[in-house]
Amino acid sequence: MSVDLGMPNARPRPLAERRKSRQIMVGNVPVGGDAPVSVQSMTTTLTSDINSTLQQIAELTASGCQIVRVAVPSADDAEALPIIAKKSQIPVIADIHFQPKYVFAAIDAGCAAVRVNPGNIRKFDDKVGEIAKAASAAGVPIRIGVNAGSLDKRLLEKYGRATPEALVESALWECSLFEEHGFRDIKISVKHNDPVVMINSYRQLAQQCDYPLHLGVTEAGPAFQGTIKSSVAFGALLAEGIGDTIRVSLSAPPAEEIKVGNQILESLGLRERGLEIVSCPSCGRAQVDVYTLAEEVTAGLEGMDVPLRVAVMGCVVNGPGEAREADLGVASGNGKGQIFVKGEVIKTVPESQIVETLIEEAMRIAEGMKDDGVESGEPSVSIAG
Ligand code: SF4
Repeated sequence: MSVDLGMPNARPRPLAERRKSRQIMVGNVPVGGDAPVSVQSMTTTLTSDINSTLQQIAELTASGCQIVRVAVPSADDAEALPIIAKKSQIPVIADIHFQPKYVFAAIDAGCAAVRVNPGNIRKFDDKVGEIAKAASAAGVPIRIGVNAGSLDKRLLEKYGRATPEALVESALWECSLFEEHGFRDIKISVKHNDPVVMINSYRQLAQQCDYPLHLGVTEAGPAFQGTIKSSVAFGALLAEGIGDTIRVSLSAPPAEEIKVGNQILESLGLRERGLEIVSCPSCGRAQVDVYTLAEEVTAGLEGMDVPLRVAVMGCVVNGPGEAREADLGVASGNGKGQIFVKGEVIKTVPESQIVETLIEEAMRIAEGMKDDGVESGEPSVSIAG
């Protein structure tokens, strides 16, 4: 008698139909509509420290992050945005605090989107018309990110505390200001640290608008607690078809957030991994033309249909560490390529042999995956960026 261990031959059916939301583009990543739920994170470096920020973005990119947010609380941070936006391989969202003028700086810098928290930007409502005009001209969407901890004082007085109704009213009020100017390129978040309040907030919001929703539990806590809170809250909402992009907040390195986010989506059958080529954004340390190498590796692995993540990193200093969540990768420098598997260097080869060595190793890992019964997703080769 054969026992069914529940190993599916095909993807399980989704738990619920996705809520129908309008689609926006965050750089080259569609959010909302029928786009797959995307995973994002936020850097913890000082944004003004360009190299450290780009290095952390490289680490996030290699671990499967699709969109990255950087904080912009000062003029120095705003000045760093053009280089970061240009060099990042994944779309960069500028998270604006305090000063409306940084919104314009972020749009001018080429950021893929801007996040505003109306509760902590001075006289934000007065500036909405100008912001809508600039964002619309540049094709830059705005995330209206309401947080329980910085709720508009008027609503705090009206509701007494950050209830779901207060969070939703705050978000929809801001949307209405943008709508008055014909601007609807918006996504919304209504974050709370209590998953129950958060779930109820997003449920209400989902019924009252068709904007794409960014899910997040704010101040979720250290890795263990934050993982549980986010999994429970996102799981409840995503199982109802609510949520278009997610950010797990952990008091842990940002790449950990991506690991958890990807796992949540995979657990719910919302994410199929195929072959993924990710490359670092390159920085002052790069000793190789990362973009050309990434293109060659992509061409060499074309047609491979296993859920393998391959990282192409520009230097041997940080490359392996930044790509430790990748299955396989190369870090190049001094005319050589260090080939690594799961962040550990397994051999060093001359630069001319990097592509063929990666292909050999990819085949070997793919065979191992097939022996272990790992299923492949739709073949999809993509270079982040
Ligand atoms: S060149 Fe090296 S340090 Fe710079 S982003 Fe790439 S891997 Fe990171």
